[in-house]
Amino acid sequence: MTGAPLLRVEGVRKHFAFTKGILFARTLGHVKAVDGISFDIRAGETLGLVGESGCGKTTTSRMILNLEDPTEGRILLDDDPIHGPIHGLQGAALAAYRAKVQAVFQDPWSSLNPRMKAGRIIAEALIVNGWGDRASIDERVSELLGQVGLRPEQAQQYPHEFSGGQRQRVALAAALASRPKLIVLDEPVSALDVSIRAQMMNLLKDIQAQDKVAYLLVAHDLATVRHMADHTVVMYLGKIVERAPTMALFDDVRHPYTRALFSAVLVAWPGRQDDEVELRGEVPSPLDPPSGCRFHTRCPYAMARCSAEEPVLRDVTPGHAVACHLFDNA
Ligand code: SF4
Repeated sequence: MTGAPLLRVEGVRKHFAFTKGILFARTLGHVKAVDGISFDIRAGETLGLVGESGCGKTTTSRMILNLEDPTEGRILLDDDPIHGPIHGLQGAALAAYRAKVQAVFQDPWSSLNPRMKAGRIIAEALIVNGWGDRASIDERVSELLGQVGLRPEQAQQYPHEFSGGQRQRVALAAALASRPKLIVLDEPVSALDVSIRAQMMNLLKDIQAQDKVAYLLVAHDLATVRHMADHTVVMYLGKIVERAPTMALFDDVRHPYTRALFSAVLVAWPGRQDDEVELRGEVPSPLDPPSGCRFHTRCPYAMARCSAEEPVLRDVTPGHAVACHLFDNA
C-alpha cells in the first residue's frame, strides 16, 4: 500500500464480559470477539473484511463506527479536524466524526424511517450536518438522488414504495449527504436479487471514483469482495489470519482457513486447480478459544506445535501476510 492511511486500526481488542445474575452479577469470563487486530484503509480504497459469522468482523465495524469502544488498542482517523483515538469522542467532535464515517447496512429497512419520504430522510442527514437553507437542501437532495441513479421526483416516495435495490440507493444517498471519507458497507448487496447486485456494486465503484470515498466492505459473499475490494482481510475467531491485496489473495490463497473459505468459489472459477480444503466442525466459542492457533481444531494440516504456539501474522510475499506455522520459514 502507498500513501498515508485514512483509517488505522492498531492492536485493537474487544472483550465482552460474560456475566451471571442480575443484582449481584458475577463475571464468568470474557468473550474475545476481537483479539488484537491491525490494518489500514487508504483514502479512496476499499478494504474487504471476510470470515464466518462470529469471526469479529461486525464488532470491528461497530468499533470503527464508534458504536463500541475498544477494550484495548487504538482506531485513528487520519483526517482533520479529528486526529487521535476516536473512542471517547463526545459532542461536536463525535458529530464531526460521524459525518466523516458513515454506514450502509444490509437491510435498508433498519436505517430508513418508514414514515418519512425519501427526500426527508436525505434532508435530515443534511440538516444534522448543518446544511444551509431550504432551497439549497432541496437542490442537494435532488443531486444526491441523481448520484445514486434515482429521479428527483422520487424524493416524494416512502420507503415501501421503492424496490429493495432502490431502498439501498436511498440509504446510500443519505450516507453520502455528509460527504463522508469512509463508508462502512455491511453486506450491502446480499439482500438484493442477484440480477441487481452488479448494478449496486458498479454504482458504489462509480461513486468511489467520483468522491474518493473509502469503503470498509464487510461481506461473506466472496464474489462481492473480489469485485469491489483493493485489499482483503480474513478473520477467524477474532484474529486476522490472512491479509493481502485482493487479487494477490484470490490468485494465491495461503492460509488453510482462507483456502477452506474460498474453496467453494475457487473451484467455480475457470482455470483454478486448487485442492479443496473442507472445513470440519463448528467455529469454537470465542469465550474459550483454542490454544495456540485458533484454527487448529478444524485444520487438516495441524501439527503438534499448532495447539501450543500461536502463529504470528507476517509477510510471506511483500504485502501478503499470513498467520500460520506452515509459512514460518517462507
Ligand atoms: Fe493449521 Fe497449524 Fe497453520 Fe493453524 S498454524 S492454520 S493449525 S497449520
